[in-house]
Amino acid sequence: SPSATAAYVDRSGTTHQLPDAAADAQVRADDRGHVFHSWSAQAKIDPMPVAAGEGSTFWDYQGNAYLDFSSQLVNLNLGHQHPDLVAAIQQQAGRLATIQPIMANDVRGELARRIAEVAPGDLDKVFFTNGGADANEYAVRMARAVTGRRKVLSMYRSYHGGTAAAISLTGDPRRWANDPSDGSVAHFFGPYAYRSPFHATTEAEEAQRALEHLENLIVLEGAATVAAVIIETIVGTNGVLVPPAGYLPGVRALCDKYGIVYIADEVMVGFGRIGEWFAVNHFGVTPDLITFAKGVNSGYVPLGGVVISDRIAAHFDDVAFAGGLTYSGHPLACAAGVATFEVFERDAILERVRDLGSRIVEPALRAMAERHPSVGEVRGVGLFWAIELVRDASTREPLVPFNASGPDAAPMAELAAACKAAGLWPFTHFNRVHVAPPLVITEEELVRGLAIIDEALEVADRYV
Ligand code: PLP
Repeated sequence: SPSATAAYVDRSGTTHQLPDAAADAQVRADDRGHVFHSWSAQAKIDPMPVAAGEGSTFWDYQGNAYLDFSSQLVNLNLGHQHPDLVAAIQQQAGRLATIQPIMANDVRGELARRIAEVAPGDLDKVFFTNGGADANEYAVRMARAVTGRRKVLSMYRSYHGGTAAAISLTGDPRRWANDPSDGSVAHFFGPYAYRSPFHATTEAEEAQRALEHLENLIVLEGAATVAAVIIETIVGTNGVLVPPAGYLPGVRALCDKYGIVYIADEVMVGFGRIGEWFAVNHFGVTPDLITFAKGVNSGYVPLGGVVISDRIAAHFDDVAFAGGLTYSGHPLACAAGVATFEVFERDAILERVRDLGSRIVEPALRAMAERHPSVGEVRGVGLFWAIELVRDASTREPLVPFNASGPDAAPMAELAAACKAAGLWPFTHFNRVHVAPPLVITEEELVRGLAIIDEALEVADRYV
């Protein structure tokens, strides 16, 4: 089990005492008494009090250390307490903590310029939001204003956020209780070679059939009613589904053919997760709008946004854009964003992610796939991977049923518990374990964490 300590040493060598058992009890009492949590049956959860974090590790109030292989919610790209981000926020707070959105300031402007510089094509303007869901809300609003159309097409097996429009775009079970069903969203199947909805046998066939399916949907929904297609460049929570070559360029071509706005949701995959600023760069496509959040500043202060093509931005030169947020381009958040760019460049983070992904993670996961009968497939790129678990490799029956909970989900719960007992905080979803550590994880930590997962997979093997 994780070895409990009373203190930890941060990267500057300073020793910090961890809170005692009384503090732990107080946090738990306040939380259970008064905090209403996301996506949960309130009486069935037991949130872990987190006392401190440093780099890729965090400590609970009992002094147990966890190596974070989920980067919190795949947002903590530069790890806990990065000194450059902390200093940037502190300095900004010391001189100008907030201004309203219609005003300009240095960090807001610099962050927008830097984002535009790394975005593909003519995506040159940035509308800032507070997070990913509202970025998608606003991207859709822009697409509707520009096209004069209302409908939006999005994938099954996708997540676009928890707010009204974003949850109706979402194609996973989180939509079921929230879908306003006003007919303005239609869902389609994206490529998923391992469980091909198109019965394709090759990646090329998968790409081609997925594109035919999308075009059919556009035509049958009425192309003249479709404002936008929104796609996670690599589907995140729903499985790290890396699209086959040709698919995203094909989506781009369909959008051009029918006058549809192509929105790339890069909330999870942008800002270095796969070793690119934006994942579309990896696939050589230029969407009309890119939405981002999470990694832009590792979530130190809430921030998201929409990167906008010149063509779409020009639509609003004389027509007012009807939307806004009090905290759009919040100076503390933008200061952390500018610092993120500086750290990425100085420490060659993108190169590091590509190197660690191909040299360490990929071979380790491929070896696990060989060794464990429960591993059906491993897939990913950079520091963004999924291990898909099955009961039977030949039928590909998932280790737990789709959307399983309670006793049905026991094998995955046991696997997660085994990881935690060994000091690793895993990202598990349905029948998958994702590998998404902070991009600053050390090689030693990465190897150690992968070894913990390797051993924990023996729990899954027992169900084969
Ligand atoms: N889009 C994607 C691809 C996401 O992964 C998420 C969050 O996980 C969101 C949108 C929503 O972002 P937020 O939770 O910041 O609203």
